Amino acid sequence: MDNTPICTRFAPSPTGYMHIGNLRTALYAYLLARSTGGRFIVRIEDTDRERLVEGAVDVILDTLKVTGIDYDEGPVIGGPNGPYVQSERKEIYRKYAEELVARGYAYYCFCSEERLAALHEENGPGGGYDRHCRSLSPEEVKANLDAGLPYVIRQKIPLAGTTTYFDEVFGEISMENADMQDQILLKADGYPTYNFAHVVDDYLMGVTHVVRGSEYLTSTPKYVLLYDAFGWERPHYCHLPLLMGKDADGKISKLSKRHGAVSFQDLVRAGYLPAAIVNYIALLGWCPRNTNQEIFSLDELKELFSVEGINKSPAVFDYEKLRWFNSEYIKAMPDDEYAKLAVPAVKAAVGENADCEKLASLLHSRLSSFGDIPEAVAFIKDRLPMEDPAALYTNKKNKTTPEVCLGILREVLPLLEEKTDSAGWDNDSLFELLKTYADGKGLKAGAVMWAVRIAVARQAVTPGGATEIMTVLGREESLSRIALAIEELERTGE
Ligand code: GLU
Repeated sequence: MDNTPICTRFAPSPTGYMHIGNLRTALYAYLLARSTGGRFIVRIEDTDRERLVEGAVDVILDTLKVTGIDYDEGPVIGGPNGPYVQSERKEIYRKYAEELVARGYAYYCFCSEERLAALHEENGPGGGYDRHCRSLSPEEVKANLDAGLPYVIRQKIPLAGTTTYFDEVFGEISMENADMQDQILLKADGYPTYNFAHVVDDYLMGVTHVVRGSEYLTSTPKYVLLYDAFGWERPHYCHLPLLMGKDADGKISKLSKRHGAVSFQDLVRAGYLPAAIVNYIALLGWCPRNTNQEIFSLDELKELFSVEGINKSPAVFDYEKLRWFNSEYIKAMPDDEYAKLAVPAVKAAVGENADCEKLASLLHSRLSSFGDIPEAVAFIKDRLPMEDPAALYTNKKNKTTPEVCLGILREVLPLLEEKTDSAGWDNDSLFELLKTYADGKGLKAGAVMWAVRIAVARQAVTPGGATEIMTVLGREESLSRIALAIEELERTGE
């Protein structure tokens, strides 16, 4: 593809939440436009009145805002090709549908619901419409219209021949015309179908590249026939590969709730950063050339993105990989920005008694998701039951055993108790105290730290060292946990 500025659009139906697949479509369409310095439009496709969900448009627009996907034309901001909500464009579609009838590419259909239902029954789900009204004479049509009979307008698909179009990702796609239905363009309620409305809008809005999910790959021949019928230049098509999830048995199937969170909102609620989500999904079906780089800012993506890098094979959403991206983005967050998100979550998990700022900062380099905070800090809030104390107190490198630890704890407890001034209960002083003790005893500092850390944390993996955890816990709780550890070790040693 050359680099002439193009125009793409994101055309969601407001049916509730922002599925990751939809967000990926929005992102790819956006990046493609931006990579050429082109235009990006947002259009709300709400002509299926039965599927409307209140508030859904806000969810879509909020998601775009939070992810940094800005648009040049669309709802709220408007633009020269508005309105950008299909329900506000009803009369436009009627005019174009009637024009198609006049040109002989569409026809009025007066078949009743009952007749269609009976046909459906007779022919089965794939059977479709029998083109009954296609051969009505102009006089019959006029009489029916004058009598006020309800009608739909259907596309008159050629009865023979093949329709072919070129998809930028999937290549040439062909369909026998005989295999296509005379689809409805305008419904009896006066609303257009998606099949018709999006074609008219894409044309009127100057969309040059239609980017969307591959579920539309095989219906696109019908859409290109509409372009041809109007005498409009066909747009370029870029259908995106399917998004799959991994099932428990290792097989893959269409990404759905049973694989995990599938909406942008649920992922954010689970503790993922919008920028990490965007970075990850940018690579779910697209691959930059000549680089192994994985972390990309939106600006970098805008530069690099190209149709050539889009894969046609299905992309599998890997939650572990998303966690990796998220951990990288959390690590890269400036401390104050990180604290704004992490401290409230830590406070909610452990209460106000512990030093939550300190605890949050200890976790900064260790979190894969903000949703992991409650589990990561549970040991601060509660004295966890020690499942296997012997194993916990044993550390080869520092040569500790439960007995060695007991000896250490017995001796450091009174030293720590001497620190009566809680202002002196800080990391440096505590470290100094334990180090001095270790040196005096000819012990490895690591052994002393090990014993104390296990005694106060009561678990093996902790977000900080012994003295850091003691500062988070505070003097009273730390001393009390060491006393408890001594008691427990004495009991098991008896
Ligand atoms: N409203 C359609 C959807 O949400 C848009 C498909 C398209 O982009 O053409 O699936």
